[in-house]
Amino acid sequence: MNIKIFSLFPEMFQGALTESLLGKATQKGILNFEMINFRDYATNKFQHVDDTPYGGGVGMLLMPEPIVYALRDHIAPEDNTPIILTSPQGKIFKQEDANRLAQYDSLAFVCGHYEGFDERIRDYVTDEYSIGDYVLTGGELPTMVMIDSIARLIPGVIKEQASYEEDSFYQGLLEYPQYTKPRSFEGKEVPEVLLSGHHENIRRWQKKEALRRTYQRRPDLLANYSLSKEERKLLDAVIDEELQKN
Ligand code: SAM
Repeated sequence: MNIKIFSLFPEMFQGALTESLLGKATQKGILNFEMINFRDYATNKFQHVDDTPYGGGVGMLLMPEPIVYALRDHIAPEDNTPIILTSPQGKIFKQEDANRLAQYDSLAFVCGHYEGFDERIRDYVTDEYSIGDYVLTGGELPTMVMIDSIARLIPGVIKEQASYEEDSFYQGLLEYPQYTKPRSFEGKEVPEVLLSGHHENIRRWQKKEALRRTYQRRPDLLANYSLSKEERKLLDAVIDEELQKN
């Protein structure tokens, strides 16, 4: 996948994109990053990319020309590349968005900064995403967050596909509790079933505990989840058990 990042602060991406799994995927040629500093497309001799807002107000806004000219120079109109604007006013970025965007051969991200950007820039992007209901100083961290969640879905970036398919959100539930060595830690034991080697019992336990976790922590996810017959039964059992605890 080719990923173009339009940012005034390309150095911020060092580390996030060069280390660990994304770094390895880049070395293997699975990912290719292109950093575009839209300051290079400033239209004034001082290379300013921001100016004061019309009508007054605090702070500086990114002007449309540098961003739009940079996009035009790097993305052909016939390209099927989603152009993602980072903005706290965008749609909240979720796993389903990562799944969708992971299907493309190329993506572009536009990082805002300062007080934000001129409204007209919105006409030149295809998507606008927020990573949560809080405001950051720039779109660089949101871009890194989105790239990380998209890239790990691309074949070859993480070792086993199954490892992300069981992750929280991928199938609409939170992941079940997990344990590693030692078997006993300060009197806390690993659940017996996980040591049993009985694959069917383990599978059923994991499914039930994923449903319990989601019921306890994110019941909103269950409202949008379509339960199989088995899951309905397991969830009913979870609800009974939880009600008896209270
Ligand atoms: N004045 C803007 C507003 O109230 O909507 C906030 C601008 S913010 C200080 C500067 C830039 O950081 C934004 O243009 C955007 O690119 C990025 N940004 C900040 N918070 C974000 C979030 N939660 N999700 C995605 N991008 C964000």
